Amino acid sequence: MANLEANRWFTEVSDRDGSAFSLRINKKLDEIQSPFQKVEMYETTDFGKLMIIDGCTMVSSLENFFYHEMMSHPALFSHPSPKNVVIIGGGDCGTLREVLKHPDVESVTQIDIDEVVTNMSLKYFPELCESNNDPRATVMFDDGIKFMREAPADSIDVIIVDGTDPVGPGEGLFNHAFYTSCLNALRTGGIMIQQSESPLMHMPLLIEMRNAMRDVGFADLQTLPFPQPIYPSGLWSSTMARKGETFSGFREQDADNARFHTDYYNVGIHKGALATPNFMKRAFEK
Ligand code: SAM
Repeated sequence: MANLEANRWFTEVSDRDGSAFSLRINKKLDEIQSPFQKVEMYETTDFGKLMIIDGCTMVSSLENFFYHEMMSHPALFSHPSPKNVVIIGGGDCGTLREVLKHPDVESVTQIDIDEVVTNMSLKYFPELCESNNDPRATVMFDDGIKFMREAPADSIDVIIVDGTDPVGPGEGLFNHAFYTSCLNALRTGGIMIQQSESPLMHMPLLIEMRNAMRDVGFADLQTLPFPQPIYPSGLWSSTMARKGETFSGFREQDADNARFHTDYYNVGIHKGALATPNFMKRAFEK
């Protein structure tokens, strides 16, 4: 059995979960301490390139499609006509690329606090950045909390919160004030979707998020579990919240007829993700 020598393995020790996850590396490619966080890049033996932020695994070439597709397509196909989209965080640009696959989308504004993340992605994950120059896309670097606070009311159809864990600059993306800003900025029927951590390991946080979204006035919620092989527990989730209307299915026909490439998302996957597992159902009903 291999031992986990520091120079051959990257290990994320997750103290809050009592777990550690390792990937074998060929070499370290880069490391930059930005004003906000430490961003590292590795070349792994089997997962392609690997981005780490503040010691936590963020993106790998092999499996980022689970996350990026589940952060974009379910929300976009649940909205009847998503034209104006905002992404908070998302600096690796993988979610932006997925959103821009939807021909009906007219504008996507991405606001990540940290330009270093995007510069690293441009260098090491060019495939995730291939749509950055789409004329519908605007890539900005600023605090997403401030951006949402200042966003005009009733101006956005879908807000995607593709942020880090609720620590450091991502902490303020998980509270009542931020959700109130998002609610105000959405048009009626608009949808906010946020990465909502592991349903297995972080249920109290997930419940807190859902309660806060309801408290500020979102009309309906859906939490979708999906695989996330390099995050603690391997099971992750996104939570969608709708303004003024309940969710009533999704544009199944359009999803089925979509002419763009996906690696995970399809109609069956979307339906399956809406079938809440019993342990989650019980926790949400408490
Ligand atoms: N998309 C990734 C994946 O494949 O798993 C993980 C998310 S990573 C891109 C999260 C991003 O959120 C980071 O680039 C970080 O800079 C950004 N972020 C954290 N706090 C933020 C804030 N307050 N405003 C805007 N962006 C923020």
